[in-house]
Amino acid sequence: MKRRNFIKKASVTGLGLVAVSSAFTSCDETLEKKEASIVTSKPTTPLVIATWDTPLAVETAAKVLQNGGSALDAVEQGCRIEEANEEGQSVGKGGLPDREGDVTLDACIMNDKGDYGAVLGVKNIMHVISVARKVMEDTPHVMLVAEGAEKFAVSNGFKRENLLTAAAKKAWEAWKIKSEYKPIINIENHDTIGMLAIDKNGNISGACTTSGLAYKMAGRVGDSPIIGGGLFVDNEIGGASATGLGEEVLKTVGSFLIVELMRQGKSPQEACEIAIGRIVNKPGKDFKNFQVGYIAVNKQGETGAYSIHEWFSYNLFKDGDNKNIKSDYFNKV
Ligand code: ASP
Repeated sequence: MKRRNFIKKASVTGLGLVAVSSAFTSCDETLEKKEASIVTSKPTTPLVIATWDTPLAVETAAKVLQNGGSALDAVEQGCRIEEANEEGQSVGKGGLPDREGDVTLDACIMNDKGDYGAVLGVKNIMHVISVARKVMEDTPHVMLVAEGAEKFAVSNGFKRENLLTAAAKKAWEAWKIKSEYKPIINIENHDTIGMLAIDKNGNISGACTTSGLAYKMAGRVGDSPIIGGGLFVDNEIGGASATGLGEEVLKTVGSFLIVELMRQGKSPQEACEIAIGRIVNKPGKDFKNFQVGYIAVNKQGETGAYSIHEWFSYNLFKDGDNKNIKSDYFNKV
């Protein structure tokens, strides 16, 4: 006999009453799906949320949506802004290199159908988010790495270029003097971008793009291009994205965890806080020197964000307004 799931009134938004599944007592997928789709309100759209202080990227994505574009086009276009921004030292051109002086990029994208595409450890191609989309749409695969991904990009018309700017080279040369191998994760500011958007049809897509940790070991890949790590979207429930020390995000499958918590009735804010708790509450975990930050949105357009330390912020475009908002955080001592 099937056990009954409980339906609870999870939240009353300004837009109406929303009922979602609150407890996972059944393995019956059909039942899960039915419950997840009991949504009586539509979010105000367009809505865009992105990690860190990324106003131009969010504005660009919002414009795509305002012109009737899809959430998928919006997140791709938004992420491209940060990839092209040479000032940003943890994404795209201008990103800090690995310990050998090579800039290698990771990116992934997910659409509202649950499709996913990613590229890992790619050199010489700036718009890896668009290459990830091509992997998703034009290949039978979900991931391409390193030379294979670069070759695929070039064969699809992407231009090869040097991603190591003079400023990034100078920083790497200064680092090389001591060559202290401590993965550096700046807990105060960043530009690795994870972005989630809801379009006028209420469909959700997400994207995430980064150059990873500064001076990482050659070949190191973090959470950003990994499904469920740096990004996860389930169009019936919502989406989540991560930034910060990818190893810690991956060990807790952070973005997937957040979406699953929302499926169980948690708000995006509660889900982000629980996911940070999974990291910091591990016995003996010394989280003083690394940062992790999450953003999330649910199908109703409610958003959440939480980080380990202060200084994490996110940009939110909602009700026609694009604001940078300081995230709440765990380590208040
Ligand atoms: N999460 C990225 C990584 O570990 C880094 C970042 O967010 O800046 O590669």
